[in-house]
Amino acid sequence: MHDITKLIVAKTKTRFFCNNCGYESAKWVGNCPSCKEWNTFVEEIVSKPSKGVVSWEQNGNKSRSSVPKRLSEIDVKEQPRIITSDVEFNRVLGGGIIPGSLVLLGGEPGIGKSTLLLQVALALKEFKILYVSGEESDHQIKMRADRLGFKSDNCFFLSETNTQQIFKHIGNLVPDLVILDSVQTLYSSLIESTPGSVSQVRQSAGEFMKYAKETGTPVFIIGHITKDGSIAGPKVLEHMVDTVLQFEGDMHYSYRIIRTSKNRFGSTSELGIYEMTSEGLRQVSNPSEILITHRTGDLSGSSIGATLEGNRSLLIEVQALVSTAAYGTPQRSPTGFDAKRLNMLLAVLEKRGGFRLGLSDIFINMAGGIKVEDPAIDLAVCTAIISSHEDMELPDKSCFAAEVGLGGELRSVNRIENRISEAEKLGFKSIYIANPGRKKINGSYTIEIKSFEKLVDVFSDLFG
Ligand SMILES: [Zn+2]
Repeated sequence: MHDITKLIVAKTKTRFFCNNCGYESAKWVGNCPSCKEWNTFVEEIVSKPSKGVVSWEQNGNKSRSSVPKRLSEIDVKEQPRIITSDVEFNRVLGGGIIPGSLVLLGGEPGIGKSTLLLQVALALKEFKILYVSGEESDHQIKMRADRLGFKSDNCFFLSETNTQQIFKHIGNLVPDLVILDSVQTLYSSLIESTPGSVSQVRQSAGEFMKYAKETGTPVFIIGHITKDGSIAGPKVLEHMVDTVLQFEGDMHYSYRIIRTSKNRFGSTSELGIYEMTSEGLRQVSNPSEILITHRTGDLSGSSIGATLEGNRSLLIEVQALVSTAAYGTPQRSPTGFDAKRLNMLLAVLEKRGGFRLGLSDIFINMAGGIKVEDPAIDLAVCTAIISSHEDMELPDKSCFAAEVGLGGELRSVNRIENRISEAEKLGFKSIYIANPGRKKINGSYTIEIKSFEKLVDVFSDLFG
């Protein structure tokens, strides 16, 4: 390990950093050579003489020294993980918190990142936890904790942004877990850039990385990202940390999803689902039930897709509204679904299905504010559009799982058995899928499996 102070040049020096990916350059460039973004470079002061400042080790804290070991002597037993009371959180981490791991929780501001980590911290009563916040005062945190309804004597709060000060308190407290809210507010006295700048974010996170690895203490870092990506943070940090969790969801909806986008200790296809309530985030163990609205009244334009999110099968309601364009140019407005994909499906419906949609406004909405990328949703989107266009309801208790190709053909999707059993579990009567061809469906189901090769065949089955 390098002593950080030795790396520092004695005079003030500036470098240019890409705000998007953290690429470092000696001079300003318009187009980032690494991530190809334009106008992302900012100038930052990267060093200054470091008199009277201390890093983690210089603070009198002991480091765990490492000696070379024979590979045959290394014990490969699973490291004991800290299992939290939150099943969804354990799942996205790959089965609990690994000692010495550095975990980044990224997401848009106000989405509930602090609430989630505070909730996890308060529920881990037998562990000493240090919650460091540069965002909120102790009053605000206390009020939030009271609202969550947990009581823990082992959760300590510190309102501080200077990393050297934080390490001083860590040295005295010796916590079992550290939470930093947020990385954008942290600053290290070892370099002179402002908090939130690329070099400061990298430096602060680097110091905590060293601390986590040398003491075996897990560290959680909250990082804000904005839609235009103007705040440096998560993207720069992603390669440094062990695990990256993305907290997603629309602020106007109550559902929140955590995805694992990187994990050195587990799978990256995990997903956790929560509902935001006034008492904090509630784990949702059976998401399909709440993502399908209880159907009443006029139901044309509503279709259910059997999708996979990560490793979990989810039934999601697709709503479509097709109406005559009020103004010159028809609108195509998808929410939770890719706009290009929608245009492609509309072209297929026109060309292969003979439906005249060119002069209509078309709105698509995934219920619950969830973003769906699984191509298996294609058939549900197409049936929802035609159901609205023809003003005819789809048969009750039927759902769809197939990709639609440019020729109007249906393509089979992966893990069809999981989708079928989820639909069956929720009491669906029929599921429309693509002709499995070489792929046989295992298992016996009471749900009717309707298999088709072409989109038009599905429509003639549904609408006659
Ligand atoms: Zn870049």
